Amino acid sequence: MQLKRLEAYGFKSFADKITIEFDHGITAIVGPNGSGKSNITDAVRWVLGEQNIRNLRGTRSEDIIFAGSAQRRPLNIAEVSLIFDNDGTLPVDFREVAVTRRLYRSGESEYFINRSRCRLKDIYQLFADTGIGHDGMSIIGQNRMEDILNSRPEDRRAFFEETAGITKFRDRKRETVRKLTDTENNLLRVQDIMQEIETQLEPLARHAEKTRQYNALHEAYRRCQLTKLARSAKREAERKAANEEKLGKARDEALALET
Ligand code: ATP
Repeated sequence: MQLKRLEAYGFKSFADKITIEFDHGITAIVGPNGSGKSNITDAVRWVLGEQNIRNLRGTRSEDIIFAGSAQRRPLNIAEVSLIFDNDGTLPVDFREVAVTRRLYRSGESEYFINRSRCRLKDIYQLFADTGIGHDGMSIIGQNRMEDILNSRPEDRRAFFEETAGITKFRDRKRETVRKLTDTENNLLRVQDIMQEIETQLEPLARHAEKTRQYNALHEAYRRCQLTKLARSAKREAERKAANEEKLGKARDEALALET
C-alpha cells in the first residue's frame, strides 16, 4: 500500500487547494520556518481521525480551519483527503482509496471513504491493523521522538501495538469484553426476574388449586340442578296424567247424569 496523494483545502495555512503527490521513495518537503511543513503532517494525522486538537497544535477544533490573513478572509470549511494505492492492505474492494475528513466552522464534522459518508469508527477500522493509525509511530512530528522515549511504559506499549498492527485485535477484544459484561448483566437481570417469579409461584399454585375446586364444585352443582329439574318434570307429567284420567272419569259421569 502506498500513500499517493494528499489534497487539502482550508486546512490551517492552506487557504488554496493544495495537492501533494508522493512518488515511490522518499518525499522531502522543504521551506522556510512557518511556511506550513508541519501543517502537512497535521493534515495527515487529522484525516486519520485525530480527536485531540492539542496533537494538532491547536486549542479549539476550529483552529484547524484557515483563520484568514492580511490579504484573505477566513474560510468556513477545512477538508483534507488522503489517497492510497491499495494493494489489499486496506480491507475494502477498491484499488484506490480516498479518505476524507471535513470540518465546518459550525463544528459539524464529516468523514468519507471514497466520497461515501462514513463514521469515524469506520476510518479507525479501515486503518486498524495497518500501523498507520492517527496515534501510531507512522507520523512522528517535531519533538515527538523525545515524547515517545519519555512516555509511560503503557503509552509506549500502545505505540508499539499500533505499529505492529494488533490494535484491531485489542479493540475487538475490548468490544467482546464489553458485550460479555452486557450479557452477564442481562443474565443477572434474568436471574432477578426468575427469583421474583418464583416468589409468586406459591400463591399462584394456591389460586390454581382453588380455581380447580371451584370448577369441580360448579360442575357438580350444575348436574344436581339438571337432575332436580328432570325429577320435577317427571312428577309434573305424572300429576298431569292422573288429572287427565280424573277429568275423563268426571266427564263420563256428567254424560251419564245428563242422559
Ligand atoms: P517550522 O519550520 O518552524 O517548524 P513549519 O514550516 O513546520 O515551521 P508550520 O508550523 O506547519 O510551519 O506552520 C505554521 C504556520 O501555519 C504559521 O504561520 C501559522 O500562522 C499558520 N497557521 C496555523 N494555523 C492556521 C490557521 N488556522 N489559519 C491560518 N494560518 C494558520
